[in-house]
Amino acid sequence: MIAVLKPNAPQAQIDNLIAWFKDQGLNVHVSVGDYQTILGLIGDTSKIDIELLEVLDIVESVKRITEPFKNANRKFHPDDTVIKIGNALIGNGHFAMIAGPCSVESENQVLEVATKVQAAGADMLRGGAFKPRTSPYDFQGMKAEGIELLLKAKKITGMPIVSEIMNANHLPLFEEVDVIQVGARNMQNFELLKELGKTNKTILLKRGLANNLKELLMSAEYIMAEGNENIILCERGIRTFETYTRNTIDLSAIPMLKELSHLPVIVDPSHATGIAKLVPPMALAAAAAGADGLMIEVHNDPIHALCDGMQSLTPQQYADLADKVRKIREVIK
Ligand code: PEP
Ligand code: MN
Repeated sequence: MIAVLKPNAPQAQIDNLIAWFKDQGLNVHVSVGDYQTILGLIGDTSKIDIELLEVLDIVESVKRITEPFKNANRKFHPDDTVIKIGNALIGNGHFAMIAGPCSVESENQVLEVATKVQAAGADMLRGGAFKPRTSPYDFQGMKAEGIELLLKAKKITGMPIVSEIMNANHLPLFEEVDVIQVGARNMQNFELLKELGKTNKTILLKRGLANNLKELLMSAEYIMAEGNENIILCERGIRTFETYTRNTIDLSAIPMLKELSHLPVIVDPSHATGIAKLVPPMALAAAAAGADGLMIEVHNDPIHALCDGMQSLTPQQYADLADKVRKIREVIK
């Protein structure tokens, strides 16, 4: 349920109302906009009498939220959420470019890719240290050592870093990681989501291979219900009957998610297509469709990459794409 308050409602009366809602056992989410304050009420609101609330001096209107996601709902928080990560901003017109290898493989590899994508204008460096591979016999990532190498790249370039977590027990290793990624395969690992909700890290939440947008938003809700509101949603392609591409990119997810939620939405065209030459056209399409950012796999030597080489751009290809993305952003401004 949301209670939209009248403009200029006195703070003391707002505080009294919030205290009363809390006495009723509800959690209250306060969204202060430029013109209005909105109180989002979470919990069992069935006993709240809407008509009684509506006659209060400070209340303009009261509505029930029918969607099961509350904190992530745009009705709770009409303004776009803007997240600050180092010097980068994402959301509400701020666009972030995240680039780097699928997996951290060596110091040379990660430092070379980091400096080159930074020169091409990337805002953040990605790199997997814990890799969710389909086969247990494939490269599983450099683990703690991989995180160390990312931190070294962060120190040298100043770029914030993004890396995937697979197990909440690894959280201490992620202390200096700026953005923690929850991969597609863990989107509904609810215990992991709850633990991440107890941190104040920015969480990059990827859509599951076979999950709809409501399920993605409910996973965001798991994190937010624990108090962490710093979430970036990521469309990375879904399973369909198409076999020429690794997944099928769902670009309509961008405007749909942005209508339903205030959270920033980015697109990963690398995993969405699985083919390097399809990455630029889909990245441009995502930027044109209103995405708040792009996450793109870049490798200094894609043919020899230990993971996802087929879909990785070279640093030069990435630089060319980044230029075009900036042009598309100019056009849609
Ligand atoms: C990745 O980002 O390297 C990754 C494993 O992505 P996804 O979870 O989308 O497959
Ligand atoms: Mn990958």
